[in-house]
Amino acid sequence: MIKKFIRKFLGVKDKAPVRDKTEPVILGATEHGIDPKLLSSNAIRVTSSLQEAGFKAFVVGGAVRDLLLGIKPKDFDIATDATPEQVKRLFRRAFIIGKRFQIVHVMFGQDLLEVTTFRGAGESSAPKDEHGRVLRDNNFGPQHEDAMRRDFTINAMYYDPATQQVLDYHGGIADIRDKTLRIIGQPEARYREDPVRMLRVVRFAARLGFTIEPATREPIAVMASLIDNVPAARVFDEMLKLLMSGHALACLQQLRKEGLHHGLLPLLDVVLEQPIGMKFVTLALESTDNRVKAGKGVSPGFLFASLLWHQVVEKWTAYCAAGESPIPALHLAADDVLDSQTEKLALQRKIGSDMRDIWSMQPRFERRNGKAPYKLLEHPRFRAGYDFLLLRCESGEIESEIGEWWTAFYEGDAVEREQLLTTAVSTPGPKRKRAPRRSSRSRTGGDGGGSGSGSDGGHSGTSGGSNPGGSSFE
Ligand code: ATP
Ligand code: MG
Repeated sequence: MIKKFIRKFLGVKDKAPVRDKTEPVILGATEHGIDPKLLSSNAIRVTSSLQEAGFKAFVVGGAVRDLLLGIKPKDFDIATDATPEQVKRLFRRAFIIGKRFQIVHVMFGQDLLEVTTFRGAGESSAPKDEHGRVLRDNNFGPQHEDAMRRDFTINAMYYDPATQQVLDYHGGIADIRDKTLRIIGQPEARYREDPVRMLRVVRFAARLGFTIEPATREPIAVMASLIDNVPAARVFDEMLKLLMSGHALACLQQLRKEGLHHGLLPLLDVVLEQPIGMKFVTLALESTDNRVKAGKGVSPGFLFASLLWHQVVEKWTAYCAAGESPIPALHLAADDVLDSQTEKLALQRKIGSDMRDIWSMQPRFERRNGKAPYKLLEHPRFRAGYDFLLLRCESGEIESEIGEWWTAFYEGDAVEREQLLTTAVSTPGPKRKRAPRRSSRSRTGGDGGGSGSGSDGGHSGTSGGSNPGGSSFE
């Protein structure tokens, strides 16, 4: 007040008002334009139960961001001033989980909602590792502190379904309108406290088509190596989110554009620094993105098998050159790649075994006589292996003819199949010593086309839904 008076007295004009970040800007329904039909009934059930019990409760984070963008949120997070125990008591199926942050999972049938208690500002005083990463933090606090603890301005808004008001503490609405990703607080400090935020920036920028504001972007290149200190399982979860966001290709392109493709993730180094397999990887990601956008299941095993295939081919070729027969050589190559990546990536056992199945089926597609093709059709992961084969054809790695033959065989009736067996051009057995058929090395820079053989829409890409969807890994 006195300050204001002195400024007026001295004739000093007010600068742009510095917003007090302890008080939110409140927007009503007509200002924010959220369509209430995009809200899940279970989210409303949770917020209203909490409110009826006398607590504050809001939809928060990514769901509010998506609602403001007119996108139907894929899940709803709820923030409240009730403690985890108080939340748990209000719902029949509620479970307190988490070590680093305690949250409550509230279940309605298959639907899971995450309810978090407002975090206090204590991130700076929380226990940390030697690199400054927050290890544990269950410090509760007022809502404005919770807002400050969130990662980006666009993820720090609260929506109350009862009043239809949006509470915006950090200028998130303006950033949504300007399509800007801006970290809350001091960027270096926020990345140090949780290096995974660097991956999140890239994912959101690519997924939403937003620009990363310079101060948010700049520290990433120098701080990227801090991701090495994050537990592998957490990095893996985040990477899976990135790859299964429906915008995987855009994410990787964004990483390149921002100069962030070095050192951020070892897997990306492998993938992005191999121009040889780029066509293959691009096709694999494109079809994954298309499947996600079409709401179809995506198999992480198929995805990782694609991303690492050219590493396998390289080693496979080397083992064959050293005199190993193709099939054992492929198994050795797969072992090598899986061993090194399992450690770095925290690949779950199931994903690893799916990858091995897909890879080891590939030379079996070359045997097109006798009973072998029928046996292969019965393989429980045939569809994934076949889709993978089509991808290899499409990328120009192998002749399109083999993919066309298998499509005809797969789709044919008994008579057609018998006929195909007599017309198959080459049926090299696994015992013949030879290099893997036309590895990408020998084809790089070729027509790059594969004439689109067998790429009949929904095929290439993933396992045709035989695997659990990506969401179970998120
Ligand atoms: P998505 O659509 O991918 O689920 P999201 O923003 O909802 O995006 P979540 O991982 O579900 O992402 O997190 C929910 C909210 O929790 C975020 O919107 C953000 O407010 C907060 N949050 C998540 N991870 C972090 C983090 N590493 N640091 C700070 N806040 C975070
Ligand atoms: Mg979310």
